[in-house]
Amino acid sequence: MLGAPGSGKGTWSKFLSDALGLPHISSGDLFRRELAKDSPLGHQLRSYLDEGKLVPDDLTIRLLGQEIIEGTGQQGFILDGFPRTMAQADALDALLLDSGQAIDRVVEIQVSEQVIIGRALSRFVCEGCGQPYNTTTMKPQVEGICDRCGGRIVRRSDDNEQTLKQRLKAYREKTAPLTDYYQRQGKLAVFPNDGPPDRKAQQELLELLGQAEPVNEVAD
Ligand SMILES: [Zn+2]
Repeated sequence: MLGAPGSGKGTWSKFLSDALGLPHISSGDLFRRELAKDSPLGHQLRSYLDEGKLVPDDLTIRLLGQEIIEGTGQQGFILDGFPRTMAQADALDALLLDSGQAIDRVVEIQVSEQVIIGRALSRFVCEGCGQPYNTTTMKPQVEGICDRCGGRIVRRSDDNEQTLKQRLKAYREKTAPLTDYYQRQGKLAVFPNDGPPDRKAQQELLELLGQAEPVNEVAD
């Protein structure tokens, strides 16, 4: 699954995982699980995360390899959060070749920059208790005051237009070669989704993937 930050990639990955009956493997979840296991790999991982460094690709690939070769991903999977660069895509291809699997489809969730920024700027959070609010769908009773604890409601510090634009630009620069790469292999399925992730959008995505009906019924 490919998609810019704020494109809803995680939500769509979970939907496809339920609809197609395939495990959802996200690099973030793999990291969290390995850290909890207190394993040698987990200790290596912690040393990078504690210093705020990026996790090196070979470490991520080893975790992914465990999951694909011995873990939940042996019969197929929805991969989310990896690859993000061409080097990672090459490493993933090598891993899959070793495990006798291959990527069937690459879904790119395409949401316009304007919509991503609009969504992010409508999000607020309570300083006191962390309760999320939203100016369109989840307004507090009294403007600026948390319903639960009476705390102050503020915008998340990383949600300002300039930061978001920079993040999206960085994403485009890193990911453009990836989409080209999968496009050339005839694997790329572009899914435009400026609207809500509702039932209609779900059907559109399944049709795009040649799945007229979900394998499993998914609750709204
Ligand atoms: Zn609160």
